[in-house]
Amino acid sequence: MSEPTMRAMRLGAAHQPLRLTAVAIPTPAPGQVLIRVHACAVCRTDLHVVDGELTEPKLPLIPGHEIVGTVAALGDGADRFAPGDRVGVPWLGFTCGVCDFCRAGRENLCARARFTGYQIDGGYADYTVADQRFCFAMPEGYSDVQAAPLLCAGLIGYRALRMAGDGARLGLYGFGAAAHIIAQVARWQGRRVFAFTSPGDTDAQDFARELGAVWAGGSDQSPPELLDAAIIFAPVGPLVPAALRAVERGGTVVCAGIHMSPIPSFSYDILWGERVVRSVANLTRRDGDEFLALAPKVPVVTRPLPYALEQANQALDDLRAGKLQGAAVLVP
Ligand SMILES: [Zn+2]
Ligand SMILES: [Zn+2]
Repeated sequence: MSEPTMRAMRLGAAHQPLRLTAVAIPTPAPGQVLIRVHACAVCRTDLHVVDGELTEPKLPLIPGHEIVGTVAALGDGADRFAPGDRVGVPWLGFTCGVCDFCRAGRENLCARARFTGYQIDGGYADYTVADQRFCFAMPEGYSDVQAAPLLCAGLIGYRALRMAGDGARLGLYGFGAAAHIIAQVARWQGRRVFAFTSPGDTDAQDFARELGAVWAGGSDQSPPELLDAAIIFAPVGPLVPAALRAVERGGTVVCAGIHMSPIPSFSYDILWGERVVRSVANLTRRDGDEFLALAPKVPVVTRPLPYALEQANQALDDLRAGKLQGAAVLVP
């Protein structure tokens, strides 16, 4: 008897295109749920995995960590969700629960953490399995494709926004999937958003203004006034000194991505004045619960750009080329 199979877009090795492959539908282990994938957003982190900048993926790997689907089957002891429930699966797929970080509410820093679409097969497929403890119930009012980008662009973006502090003048460097969500939250919080795009990318600048940015320009430009904080979503090291020059004394520059090209050396005087540079790593489940409760209140309106599952390589290429105004979402 042959096992039932599903379609998956699978990575065999870094620097190679994903291959459409028929693989066995996974069986949920104890505590896991089997999920019929309805939408999986494409994140820049997926690109870093495919491009070999994140060097420790399981192989072969099914990428994808912004998964929305419905529960199709339950593993032994899985009782948090019922078949048919709509759930979301984020990047954080497992934490140890007992280390100092986990016990201090900082499970995003757990050394034994495992990540969806990296060390655990993800959502570029018809089905996936996930540990029920790391799944989210998804808010009503969003379709599956609208909801998928909330799961990483949204909630890691939200963590970065929290780390940026409460200042009213917020710069966003790189106006893609995460920034288009976080700009809406920041505006709702009463902040003024300044958007920095690749120099000359007037389409992205128009997009940022549509979403309420009070100013949009190239990352080689200075904002019309100094900022209280900046979040860097683009994986471009030279933006760190650029953002430091754009923030006021006491300002914070948050690097929100998991990978960045080398940061050029810079003069101490642009850090002086109690300016802070920090990174944001991963997410906690609490970040997810908070952000998914907040999103419908704003309400955050995502701009999903749907692609068929088989077009995953195209979606990755378009993201790499900086062509996307919104969030690419695969629809199996
Ligand atoms: Zn831990
Ligand atoms: Zn992501």
